[in-house]
Amino acid sequence: MMFAHEIAEQVRTGKRSARAVIEESLARADAVQAELNAFISIPRAAALAAADAIDKKIANGEDPGVLAGVPVVVKDNICTKGIRTTAGSKSLEHFVPPYNATVIERLQAAGAVVVAKANLDEFGMGSSNENSAYGPARNPWDASRVPGGSSGGSAVAVSSGVAPIALGTDTGGSVRQPAAFNGIIGYKPTYGRLSRYGVIAFASSLDQVGVLARSSKDIALVMDVMAGHDEHDATSIPEDKPQFLASLNAADLAGIKIGLVTELSGEGNTEGVLAAISRTKDLLSRLGAQVGEVSLPNAPYGIATYYLVAPAEASANLARYDGMVYSTRIGENALGQAEVMMKSRGATLGPEVRRRILMGTYALSSGYYDAYYGKALKVRRLIANDLEKAFSEFDFVLTPTTPTAAYKLGEKSSDPLAMYLDDIDTVLANLAGIAAVSVPAGKAEEGMPCGVQFLAPAMQDEKLIRLLSALELAQGETFAPLSPFKG
Ligand code: GLN
Repeated sequence: MMFAHEIAEQVRTGKRSARAVIEESLARADAVQAELNAFISIPRAAALAAADAIDKKIANGEDPGVLAGVPVVVKDNICTKGIRTTAGSKSLEHFVPPYNATVIERLQAAGAVVVAKANLDEFGMGSSNENSAYGPARNPWDASRVPGGSSGGSAVAVSSGVAPIALGTDTGGSVRQPAAFNGIIGYKPTYGRLSRYGVIAFASSLDQVGVLARSSKDIALVMDVMAGHDEHDATSIPEDKPQFLASLNAADLAGIKIGLVTELSGEGNTEGVLAAISRTKDLLSRLGAQVGEVSLPNAPYGIATYYLVAPAEASANLARYDGMVYSTRIGENALGQAEVMMKSRGATLGPEVRRRILMGTYALSSGYYDAYYGKALKVRRLIANDLEKAFSEFDFVLTPTTPTAAYKLGEKSSDPLAMYLDDIDTVLANLAGIAAVSVPAGKAEEGMPCGVQFLAPAMQDEKLIRLLSALELAQGETFAPLSPFKG
């Protein structure tokens, strides 16, 4: 699979038809699906029709858009008009959105083609894809291991060459963690830079659409298309003028200061992850950056804070899946409304989702609100303050993306707490609303890839992607290679 910028160039100049590109992508999607269960739907007919429409535009001399013919894979919690969107849940098994999310609208207007809807943990709740009602996706580097989550299928699609670009959502790390587990780039923009209109809500103050890719230029290309104010999302940043492509190509990192987080770069990480951090430090120094250490004293409370705030918001957001309007209804007619609602929720929401709703409802209930949710909001502020202080001294903050590389299926699925603890590095950016990227950092244990994470202050996304491009340029072909999955 070529990069998005290469495909668009070939299609726009008539070297290759959009139809040929999309047929190849769909064939690869079938092969990947057969062994890795990365997708919930593959909308073949719609994808081919979209490709033909682009080829027709080119034949007529019309501009087909900067992403002409580029296949994209979309996490199945982002609404696609006329294409089933399940959020990985039984409760939305039959939901076909009558409209597109704004990010989809903009991608399609630029000529991109949705080839598959990617598997995910139900409603984005999870880190391994094992919470999907459609069965777990598997890691293309080793199919006995998890691909990460919750945007697991999106990461598999990019690392196994179905598409150069996939969209995910990141509430506490769901774009960055699967990117690290698959050896690719996972970028979570500043809160509000990408519209959440048409994105199925998990925890609205943390949710952000993110991009999985294998090249900084591809990320820049799609961000320039997707970002910018959206009047349908009240949290969308006003007058945002994305300038990602224009900011690429840093020759070196002279004068850039990077702070490695003391609390997150020692105990609790595997040897392989720590070795990746030290390789990254060496590379940064070689490129002229100054690497120091910085303390985020409240970072160790990030998990406890996130697992109060996110479930609290989820418990409110998920109240709508009651079988009344568009989620699956169980026990029709025979029972009263309240009973139909209870039955529908009980039968169509999975165990992790029910656990989160219960935790969140508890944390918000009167008598417990101050001790749990209220307290979590205060710690959230302290974490943001720690980061703000770090950014007064450093341009970027560096951590591992995850404490370990991808583990075996089943290894953590019976121990939710162990799974939650692995989000320690990623939740900080969501709690603070800032930009973050997971950058491939070679192999950790047993030949499995891992990543390192850079955090940037809010609205410094372009600068963050420029840092990414400098690291990419320095590593050449060895940066973000495709997985060895044959299919
Ligand atoms: N793993 C985290 C959770 O289970 C983050 C999920 C996400 O970012 N959607 O909530």
